[in-house]
Amino acid sequence: MRIYGENITKRFGEFTALKNINIVLDKPAIYCITGPSGSGKTTLLKVLSGLMQPTEGKVYYDERSIYNLKNDELSSIRNKVNGFVFQDYFLEEKFSVFENVTVPLYIRKGLKKNNIKEMTMAALKTVGMDSKYDQLAGSLSGGEKQRVAIARALAGDPQIIYADEPTGNLDKKNSETVLELFINMAKKNKTVVLITHNTEIVKKADYIVSLSDGEIVVEE
Ligand code: ADP
Ligand code: MG
Repeated sequence: MRIYGENITKRFGEFTALKNINIVLDKPAIYCITGPSGSGKTTLLKVLSGLMQPTEGKVYYDERSIYNLKNDELSSIRNKVNGFVFQDYFLEEKFSVFENVTVPLYIRKGLKKNNIKEMTMAALKTVGMDSKYDQLAGSLSGGEKQRVAIARALAGDPQIIYADEPTGNLDKKNSETVLELFINMAKKNKTVVLITHNTEIVKKADYIVSLSDGEIVVEE
């Protein structure tokens, strides 16, 4: 899958959050988006992932311009092609680990019920949380919660993982565990788009995109 953001500008009223960004993500690799708070990282991630239409410009997934698709086709990209991980995990704390990972698979059309349980347990195994499958999410540590959130993002076998400051609430050791999971995903042919301030993580990225005031200042 080749993702191409072409001349992306995003305005909120008078304020311009992204200024004519051009970006190509076309390899199974770790792409880090970094830059100061307010520089437009989250906005860029939302625009690239189909969550937020740009004011100007286009986002292509291969040859498809995603914001020109019908609503159901765009939501199918969000649900099947993309997986999402956020700083605050967004788990249902009163649901079990298993339920948190399995519910999005039920909502998604076209999966056989028999397979859903296996997909759920396989994803939990990948992040080392299979033995805690029936524990309540609210009772887990921060590092464990993020591993479950990663399992939820992985369970549907997305091609692209978008992660917005996934280690922002984690200590060094848990951050390393989470980074290791992302590195393994890239090795398994997934594109990982990772927003982070963590310099240790930035060092391990395959590509780095630095934003400042809505513009790309360094790309390497
Ligand atoms: P970052 O993730 O790099 O901290 P964001 O992409 O969240 O930055 O925000 C970039 C700028 O756009 C900020 O100045 C922010 O206040 C502004 N912004 C983001 N979302 C909105 C919104 N929905 N309405 C108005 N301004 C917004
Ligand atoms: Mg942000």
